[in-house]
Amino acid sequence: MSYGLPYADRRGRIFFDEQARALAEGGVLREPRREELIPLPAGSVAAMLPERAPLVGTVAHPRPYGKGGYAAVGVLLPSGYTRLLLPAYRAAAAAPALPLFGYTFACVVDDELYVAAAKTDEGETWKPRFFEGDELETAIEQRIEIDPENGVLGQVALCSREYGCFTAQNVFFECGEAAIPVSPACNARCLGCISQQEPDSPFPSPQTRISRAADVDEIVRVALHHLAKDPGAVVSFGQGCEGEPLMRYRTIVAAIREIRAQTAAGTLNLNTNGSLPEKLQEMIDAGLQAVRVSLNSFRPEVYAAYYRPDRYGLSDVLDSIRRACTAGLRVSLNLLTFPGVTDEDAELDAMERFLREVHVEMVQTRTLNIDPAVYRQAVGAPLAPRGMLEALARIRAAGSLVGNFTHQVL
Ligand code: SF4
Repeated sequence: MSYGLPYADRRGRIFFDEQARALAEGGVLREPRREELIPLPAGSVAAMLPERAPLVGTVAHPRPYGKGGYAAVGVLLPSGYTRLLLPAYRAAAAAPALPLFGYTFACVVDDELYVAAAKTDEGETWKPRFFEGDELETAIEQRIEIDPENGVLGQVALCSREYGCFTAQNVFFECGEAAIPVSPACNARCLGCISQQEPDSPFPSPQTRISRAADVDEIVRVALHHLAKDPGAVVSFGQGCEGEPLMRYRTIVAAIREIRAQTAAGTLNLNTNGSLPEKLQEMIDAGLQAVRVSLNSFRPEVYAAYYRPDRYGLSDVLDSIRRACTAGLRVSLNLLTFPGVTDEDAELDAMERFLREVHVEMVQTRTLNIDPAVYRQAVGAPLAPRGMLEALARIRAAGSLVGNFTHQVL
């Protein structure tokens, strides 16, 4: 089977050349394997990669496509899919850094666009939403009218309108997983942080981090209202628009105690970098029931290169996961995946060892949204990438589910 090349012109129009053989990047330059390709999923977006010429030919003789002026194409996948390969290209010397998206390899098969991806979740409640007219706006106004001074509601209203955040919108639709952002501060400086980038960063953060710390009463009021409307719902601390919720552990511990003093409904969840195991333990002791810990690697040096942690390390993160598992919480990992790093031989060994030691219910694979060159420069070149399909198989073999979302317990 031949894998033709999609490419873009200067105006961003996308063309197909079925005679050119598209090359992919999976830590090493190579051709895609048939089992790594699926037809373009609905909801995908094909993006032009400016000043990056696509590579074609054979692995032995790769060459940039065309005589210049043509750009590589990367596909941004919808939720529920895991990226398996990156597009292969040669960047011009002065090429600007790519914005924080996850670029996936695409090729042409029988005049159709295919992508290197695996379907890894259904996520019924995460399907694209279609609002009736101003349904969301009406819901926001009605909810804020009940509690007009609540800063948490003000923040999630912004996230609902500006960023289309589903967990923020759930606060106003009064069902499902509800976002409660609490912490402006963080003890990491992730290269691809979506809520804050340093002034000299080559790309902007797509969201603005909350500037105000929520207080206990505000959190409790939002949580109790949500759980009264949907007793099976999840209330989640730690959102994309904030820093690290463990930095506000005292507030969250007090809020959990107060919520649980008033209702046993729903699930209290924390999305965290897992940096402060003792503080997490306090939340567990107060009644936290579920936790999702984010990490990009099970190797300390790769973790540190991306997270740039302040006064903690990967061993603390793993300690947090162990404590949550031992206490019987629903534990999932938010694994920031990147072909050629996640599937590196040494990475797979480290990951499998850890997953076999603890019981992590689900490993949620998240495409790491970052310019591939920036990430590679930070974490180094891979030695022996095995392929992302093998990474997914090794997670399952170690006893964890592979998915993309936290599913509500029914
Ligand atoms: S841990 Fe989260 S909030 Fe903190 S820098 Fe990383 S991505 Fe940003």
